[in-house]
Amino acid sequence: MAQLTLEHVTKQYEDVTAVDDMNLDIRDGEFVCLVGPSGCGKSTTMETIAGLTKPTEGTIRIGDRDVTKLPPKDRGVAMVFQNIALFPHMDVYDNISFGLRLRDFDTDEIDRRVNRATEIVQLEGMLDRMPDEMSGGQRQRVAIARAIVRNPDVFLMDEPLANLDAKLRVHMRTELQRLHKELDTTIIYVTHDQAEAMTMSDRIAVINAGELQQIDPPLVCYNQPANLFVAGFIGSPSMNFVEGELTDSGVRTSSFHVDCDVSAIDGVSVGDPITVGVRPEDVHLADRGQDVTAPTQPIPVDTDVLEPMGNEVFVYLKLESGSDRTMAETEIDGDKEVVAGPQGQLLMSLEPDTDIEEDQQVEVVLDRTSIHLFDSQTGNALVHGVEHLGNARVGDEATHAGAESDSYT
Ligand code: ADP
Repeated sequence: MAQLTLEHVTKQYEDVTAVDDMNLDIRDGEFVCLVGPSGCGKSTTMETIAGLTKPTEGTIRIGDRDVTKLPPKDRGVAMVFQNIALFPHMDVYDNISFGLRLRDFDTDEIDRRVNRATEIVQLEGMLDRMPDEMSGGQRQRVAIARAIVRNPDVFLMDEPLANLDAKLRVHMRTELQRLHKELDTTIIYVTHDQAEAMTMSDRIAVINAGELQQIDPPLVCYNQPANLFVAGFIGSPSMNFVEGELTDSGVRTSSFHVDCDVSAIDGVSVGDPITVGVRPEDVHLADRGQDVTAPTQPIPVDTDVLEPMGNEVFVYLKLESGSDRTMAETEIDGDKEVVAGPQGQLLMSLEPDTDIEEDQQVEVVLDRTSIHLFDSQTGNALVHGVEHLGNARVGDEATHAGAESDSYT
């Protein structure tokens, strides 16, 4: 196991900047997930770490070695990919030991490593099986065992569970967490599956258009997103966004007002455009607002579509004025993905037994402790929670991309 550092890594493909000045500092034994929309540069980042792609600029260190110019085999990394490339004519033992045999390891050492790896991935008793006699999950475990026998300093896993069915993915997710605990090794893991990223990671690195947006523990990304992109990307369904403007008593949108002490917000002034963000679970029916410690003033809305999910019900709400941009969804704007969505709508998540119908006039309140304010022009978060502005400033816990962080430097 080892620390992994990317310093100002850029990868340019003709007119495409796949990775843009990436700085990552991954600790020894840490499990970090790279997430972001398709084409944001996750795989290219992994390929530069593995040595399969040469960065245009920047330095990659593993432990105390500068590996930027080393060939893949000398970097101490092992990769597991989405497509499980096992040799079809070799049994499990030969597949797992292939690399060791190529490098002339002695037979006892090969036996020892294969036995330990198959024990870790729980494939004991299957060493003489052929790949076509195994399930997708078992084949993926062979691929992982093949990586383990190399005793890598760093594991690179690029969507290793993407081709498995949903139930098996959930099972393999817990297996990988167990594996990480057992091997105590550094793992960099690419996924588009939020549940995987939230449950497995020590930290999540959110990437957009080749640029690192935030790297933080999952709940910090969820509760204190560094900017609009992270706020809209992490969490399903997405955070609601409503456009507003800073006034001298808070933020005014065309449908409601959020009272707060604006003098405590740095970097913006009265009249500036502000985006209010609130997650569906932080929107409540006003008559149940007694459960909310710091509710906003009641906001009149009309219910639209209901989506009963079993454990909760999603209620689409029409805000009184139809001029707001709400309900995050992604939309391509040039080569950047931005958060935008249908006009004048708010999504609320309620208990499944709530007495509510479609096309009903109701009042809702927002939980002031969970209202996020963003600078609409830069997209950067200004404040998370408006109930005590002075106590809830951005930067108390969240580590912003590019910012110095004592705990990781
Ligand atoms: P992700 O893994 O996040 O889906 P990739 O790292 O595969 O993204 O790709 C990032 C960007 O780089 C995309 O725009 C992709 O088209 C481009 N890209 C990746 N590999 C190459 C290549 N070999 N040649 C040209 N462009 C590439």
